[in-house]
Amino acid sequence: MIFNNKLDDLKNGLKQLPGVGEKTAQRYALYLLNQNKENSLNLADTIREAVESHTFCEVCNMLSDSNPCVICRNKERDHSILCVVENTYDVYLIENTGDFHGYYFVLGHLLSPMDGIGTSEIHLPELLNRVKSEIITEVVLALNPSAEGETTIELIASELAPYRKTITRLSTGLPFGGNIEYSSPTTLSNAIKRRYSISE
Ligand SMILES: [Zn+2]
Repeated sequence: MIFNNKLDDLKNGLKQLPGVGEKTAQRYALYLLNQNKENSLNLADTIREAVESHTFCEVCNMLSDSNPCVICRNKERDHSILCVVENTYDVYLIENTGDFHGYYFVLGHLLSPMDGIGTSEIHLPELLNRVKSEIITEVVLALNPSAEGETTIELIASELAPYRKTITRLSTGLPFGGNIEYSSPTTLSNAIKRRYSISE
């Protein structure tokens, strides 16, 4: 029953968030309207400012409030190693382990031809260009051990083969079908430290 359009708009907006269903969205929407008006309006301003100030880094594709992002601008990192991840959140997870000091490349998606996600959607041409033109000796494919992740790893590894770099992937501490998002920092840290070569 629609008896309050504005509340419904807010609820539908919140439902777009991952893990938020109908009931939770309703609860959040009513909470935002019930609490001190100032707090909710501040949250709205914060969301607007964050969204407006963020863009994709032209070097690594990660979401950032500066372009190039703070990681790509940092000249102190290890230029010889490039870590390929699915999304910006994965960059944060890996940074939090403190075990990786190279640079990143964010694919934005995993390969999924059935959903129309092919090589250009995962920025493969830009990745190849980057690997070719920089002093990179190792490319770490830090992708989820899922069906899409495996397909993506296979494709990237074969496309990178002519460049004669060491190609590694995370150790199998991560369960198949799992998601690096849900692994503990220790598991992820071990998976990075025990990464293994898949290049010939
Ligand atoms: Zn960047």
